[in-house]
Amino acid sequence: MKREYDVLVVGGGPGGAFAAKTFAEKGYSVLLTEKRPAIGAPVRCAEGVGKALMHEFFKPEDRWVAAEIDKANIIAPDGFKMELEPEKAGAEVGYVLHRKVFDRDLVWMAAGAGADIQVKTRAVTPIMEDGAVKGAILNQGGVTHEVRAGLTIAADGVESKFARWCGVDTTVPLREMETCAQYLMTGIDIDAHATEFYVGNNIAPGGYVWIFPKGDKTANVGIGLGGDRSKPGNRPIDYLNRFVSKNFPNGKTIELIAGGVSICQPLPCTVANNLMIVGDAARVSDPLTGGGIYAALYTGKLAGDIGSKAIENGDTSTQALMPYDETWRASYLGKALERNYQIKEVFVKLNDDDLNAIVHSVSKMNLSDFNTLNLIKNIIAANPKLAIKLGKAG
Ligand code: FAD
Repeated sequence: MKREYDVLVVGGGPGGAFAAKTFAEKGYSVLLTEKRPAIGAPVRCAEGVGKALMHEFFKPEDRWVAAEIDKANIIAPDGFKMELEPEKAGAEVGYVLHRKVFDRDLVWMAAGAGADIQVKTRAVTPIMEDGAVKGAILNQGGVTHEVRAGLTIAADGVESKFARWCGVDTTVPLREMETCAQYLMTGIDIDAHATEFYVGNNIAPGGYVWIFPKGDKTANVGIGLGGDRSKPGNRPIDYLNRFVSKNFPNGKTIELIAGGVSICQPLPCTVANNLMIVGDAARVSDPLTGGGIYAALYTGKLAGDIGSKAIENGDTSTQALMPYDETWRASYLGKALERNYQIKEVFVKLNDDDLNAIVHSVSKMNLSDFNTLNLIKNIIAANPKLAIKLGKAG
C-alpha cells in the first residue's frame, strides 16, 4: 500500500471529492480517505442546491436530481403563505438532489482522475513536524498506518476535528451550531416543484422547518434549531413530530436523520503550513439557510487550483497558501456569507409578530431586482418599527 502522496484529503463529502478530483486532474498523486464505509451514506442533508450555483461546476446528471424546483413558499407563524415565483426565489430554486448518488459520483470522478480512495479509514492524528502538517495517521479497521503528504486538505465536514488537531481553533459556539432532524416522508400532499419554509417560534425557534420535495408525494421534511434552543421535550425531533402530526398525519416516514449545521462566521484563517481547510470544516456553510453544498464544491475546487500552484512552486507554507483564503473571501461566496451572517443574527431575535409583519409586507412588494439586500431594504421601508433591529443587518 502506498504511504506517500503529494496530497492527502481527509473526508469524502463534496468538498473533499472536488479537491481530490482537481489535484488529481493536475497530475498530483492524491489519497482521499473517508471514515464511513460508504460514500454519501447516511445522508445528512435536505439536498437542496441552487440551479445557477450548481451550473457553475456542471450540468447535473439526471440520476443526481430527485426534483426540479421552480418556486419557494414561506409560511409565516400566523399561517399566511408567501409565494416566491422563479424570478423572485433566487437561489432557493434549483434541484433537490439524491446525495447518495451525487456524493458517490463526485468521488467516482476523483478516482477516474487518478486519486486513490480509502473508505472506512479514519484520519486519527495529523503528523506534525516543525509546526507543519506532514500527513496523518490513518486507522483502517483497527489497524493504523502513516500516510505522508506534502499538502493535506481538511474536508472532514461539520464535525471537523482534523484542523483543530493541527492547532487551528475551529470551535463553534453552541448557539451557532444548528441542530437538525429530518424525515424522508412519502404519502404526503405537497407541491412537487416548490420548497416550503415555515418560520415561527412555536414551530422552530431560531430556525425553520423545510419541506424539500423528492418527487410526487415524497419530501425531506426537516427542522433546524439553534443549539441553545434544544431542551428536553423541545428537541428538534419533538418540534418535527408536532409539525408532522399536524400537517402530514397520514404520511409515512422511511428515513430519519439527525445532524448539525454551523451557522457561525467562517474560520478566521483557512490555511496553515501544508494545510488547507474546505467546506463545512472551514465553516463556510450559509449562516442563514444552512446550505453548504455549493460552498464545499467551490472551496474544494479552489483549494485544488491554488494548492496545485503552491506545490508546483515548492512552497506550501501558510503564506504561500493564503491566496486560497483571500480568494474565497473576496468571492460571491465570501460576500454572501458575511451578509447572511448579519441577517441571521437579526433573524434569530425576531418574535412572531415581527416575522408575520415581514412575510406579509414582502408578499406585497413588487421587486423587479430580487436579491437579499434589496429585500432587506424593502422590509425596512415597509416596517419602520423593525428598522432598528434590521438596520444592524445593513
Ligand atoms: P461533508 O459532506 O460533511 O463530508 C465530510 C466527510 O468527512 C464525511 O463523509 C465524514 O464521514 C468524513 N470525515 C469526518 N471526519 C473524518 C476523519 N477523521 N477521517 C476521514 N473522514 C472523515 N446544504 C445544502 O447546500 N442544501 C441543503 O438542503 C442542506 N441541508 C442540510 C440539512 C441537514 C439536516 C444538514 C445536517 C446539513 C444540510 N446541508 C445542506 C449542509 C450540507 O450537507 C453540507 O454543507 C455539505 O455536506 C458540506 O460538504 P463537506 O464536503 O464540507 O462535508
